[in-house]
Amino acid sequence: MPHSDEVPIVAIATAPGRAGIGVVRVSGPQIDPVVAAVLGPELAARLRPRHATRARFLDAHQRVIDDGIAILYRAPHSYTGQDVLELQGHGGPLVLRMLQARCLEAGRALGARLAEPGEFTLRAFLNDRIDLAQAEAVADLIDASTEAAARSASRSLAGEFSAALAQLAEQLTQARALIEATLDFPEEDLEELGARDVREQVASLQRSVDEVMRRARLGAVLRDGLRVALVGAPNVGKSSLLNALAGQDVAIVTAHPGTTRDRIERSIDIGGLVLNVIDTAGLRATADEVEQLGIDRTLAAVGEADIVLELVDATAAPERGSPLDSIPLASIPDWRQRIGGHAARIVVINKIDLSGELPGPNAGRLYISAKTGAGLDSLRAELLHRAGWDHAPSDRPHAGSPSGGCRAPAAGGATAGAGGRRVAAGRTRAGRDHRTGHGR
Ligand code: GDP
Repeated sequence: MPHSDEVPIVAIATAPGRAGIGVVRVSGPQIDPVVAAVLGPELAARLRPRHATRARFLDAHQRVIDDGIAILYRAPHSYTGQDVLELQGHGGPLVLRMLQARCLEAGRALGARLAEPGEFTLRAFLNDRIDLAQAEAVADLIDASTEAAARSASRSLAGEFSAALAQLAEQLTQARALIEATLDFPEEDLEELGARDVREQVASLQRSVDEVMRRARLGAVLRDGLRVALVGAPNVGKSSLLNALAGQDVAIVTAHPGTTRDRIERSIDIGGLVLNVIDTAGLRATADEVEQLGIDRTLAAVGEADIVLELVDATAAPERGSPLDSIPLASIPDWRQRIGGHAARIVVINKIDLSGELPGPNAGRLYISAKTGAGLDSLRAELLHRAGWDHAPSDRPHAGSPSGGCRAPAAGGATAGAGGRRVAAGRTRAGRDHRTGHGR
């Protein structure tokens, strides 16, 4: 019974490592014996719920493990909806482990065990303290890597998203009642009137569903970032563009085709949105085994991307179709299937400093120079736009802050200064699953 909420669970709630303060939490339907054992019966009897009380945390032989603060929350007025004891001690890994072990030992007769990751939040959900959207928001808030992501999660945690879903359910019920009425009483002149109303209601419902879906997608992009694959023939400037967006040299740039042998992924924060940019090995037919490996990975990366940036050299072929059409793909079996169809594509013409074209969007393409930086603001604005940024709610508390502003910058404008900032390198989607503390 791994998730039974009948027994007390215990966990260190703060992150591993050394810190000034560390917290051990206990939650269960009955935790009084643990409170009495760890704090001593006298102090346990004096504890006032939700009040911080200075306490000595005692081991089984009444020796002091640590001196800190104890807070007792009585059900249902706690995070989990059960009785919760929070012990705030000094944040050394050893002392916290001793305290955790002591709580487990003191609760052994009650079946106390270590909490699973996220189990405190699971109990909060099971006890109706929060709904599923809010439970997800807890994880998103903890994992947020940009200010905008944190704000979005915290709004969901406050119930904003849940309220939108509840409203949708209400609308659905009304539409259903109306449809049933027109079916049940067709003779009562309801038919004509009802059919019109139903159509209007269903159309309005459709709009609401679209809006909720859009917000959910934006939430996912805020949380995971936007996966952008840079593809194009060797030497069109993919690595240079990645470097220009990241603001520092992350890929080797040389004048010899085929130098980017493998995919390189970097997380870049542009105006609060995380871009996971995948630079790709030049797509071309090759007999070189190592390069072929890079090409295989390229195709896999493109298959996962939300947006594919197709880079074309402004000084190369006169016919500037998709670079994927112009490269010799004959040697790559089933390449079309492997690239997949769901990613949005943006054709970017690079090296305009050599060709003399104007930067920015023109006839469905974006003109840039990775070398001079011309047109990069437009490119960032376009990426934010594709991520749904310009439809983001405008009622954000700190819309004016450097990364909190979630409206799309005006084309060609306001992202200056944002592109160079980088979030923690190496953050990946998988990283979300490596959660540390068990204390949620
Ligand atoms: P990749 O093979 O597509 O990754 O291309 P690279 O980024 O390695 O660039 C190939 C060559 O083109 C390098 O010599 C770059 O300096 C050059 N290059 C890239 N972008 C530009 C640009 O916008 N203007 C000019 N003049 N040269 C560029």
